[in-house]
Amino acid sequence: MTAFSLNPEQTARCDRLRELAEERLRPLAEAHAEAHAETYADKKEPGRVNRPLTEALGELGLLEGLFTSGALDLCLMRESLARVCTEAETALALQGLGAHPVHAYGSLEQREHWLPPTRAGRAIAAFALSEPGAGSDAAALALRAEPDGSGGWRLTGEKSWISNAPEADFYTVFARTSPDAGARGVTAFLVPADRPGLTGAPLDMLSPHPIGTLAFDGVRVSTADVLGDVNHGFRVAMTTLNRFRPSVGAFAVGMAQAALDATLAHTADRDAFGGKLKDLQAVSHQVAEMATRTEAARLLVYAAAAAYDRDEPDIAGRAAMAKLFATETAQFVVDTAVQLHGARALRRGHLLEHLYREVRAPRIYEGASEVQRAVIAKELYGKETPSA
Ligand SMILES: Cc1cc2nc3c(=O)[nH]c(=O)nc-3n(C[C@H](O)[C@H](O)[C@H](O)COP(=O)(O)OP(=O)(O)OC[C@H]3O[C@@H](n4cnc5c(N)ncnc54)[C@H](O)[C@@H]3O)c2cc1C
Repeated sequence: MTAFSLNPEQTARCDRLRELAEERLRPLAEAHAEAHAETYADKKEPGRVNRPLTEALGELGLLEGLFTSGALDLCLMRESLARVCTEAETALALQGLGAHPVHAYGSLEQREHWLPPTRAGRAIAAFALSEPGAGSDAAALALRAEPDGSGGWRLTGEKSWISNAPEADFYTVFARTSPDAGARGVTAFLVPADRPGLTGAPLDMLSPHPIGTLAFDGVRVSTADVLGDVNHGFRVAMTTLNRFRPSVGAFAVGMAQAALDATLAHTADRDAFGGKLKDLQAVSHQVAEMATRTEAARLLVYAAAAAYDRDEPDIAGRAAMAKLFATETAQFVVDTAVQLHGARALRRGHLLEHLYREVRAPRIYEGASEVQRAVIAKELYGKETPSA
């Protein structure tokens, strides 16, 4: 039981991971960015999957950790990577999101075929839930799975905002097997990328995140492709998102800490008004606020993850609080860091310019902040409401 400090072994593991990320992963992210620098800058080319980076995550055993770690260890991994290399963090998280349904619900055959290359970073996974007409309201998804007359289905429709699409090697796809049944009419399928009728297109985002659309034109799937049970796919989606929710907060905490580290160094070094920037109380108190909010976010994240690992009853609300508070805090911390750095932070290629673009999306994906507040409120009012 802890309330809440990491033990020396956990701290040492985080330190080691940050060193590895510096030595092995950041150079691969930089090489990839450099190779695409002109096209990214000119907005001619969207983000691409960085396969060498994902393979390095496999070689270092970090992808294996996605399937063997508890929620707290997953948070420590994501926070440590995010502090040094957001691209590595994101590549790791996407392998987890795409492959967790196979790990948790796949048949022996599906697991034996797809999990070893996913853990090695040779097969790229993706989680395809969102659609142009169904984002926050995921139960409204409309991708049709229509019986093909021989025990299987044909998938027809569109997915949008799918990380790693269209370059992934396989997709966990959520499709409607029962019309008008809402969340109870959805089935999860494992769809290899080379299935005839499956195409996709990349999307160009604020950050060069690998993401795109998928179009299904009568793509055939069979019972061997189902993950879990027919019409129980929404549960596959929600248990996967629940497992990862606190760790989205950890990603945000890692980015906030990176912005704080940079700000401490910069404000201690920058000459201003006959001293250093940090000598101005208006500056040092802002830094104190950044540090306090980051630490509060970290504690919420660790506590939610530890509650998940102990299978406590109020996990949904705690995970929602952790994700909400950490992602909103990271936005504040990164924005304040930009302010305290001045113009240099806005120069393309500066760490803070990078973080400023990266920090925005987590407030929207895996449940927007408003959706997290709705989850928290539902839990609060679901409990016995105290009388006035
Ligand atoms: C970088 C990135 C990566 C992504 N990767 C994936 C992926 O790998 N797989 C995948 O399936 N999807 C992915 N998504 C999609 C993501 O899950 C959706 O963007 C998200 O669910 C929100 O849906 P939407 O964008 O359609 O917004 P909408 O659902 O249209 O919502 C728009 C806004 O309305 C407000 N709102 C919505 N619902 C409520 C509510 N209940 N109460 C109050 N306000 C509300 C919020 O402000 C919300 O931001 C990704 C998105 C991004 C940006």
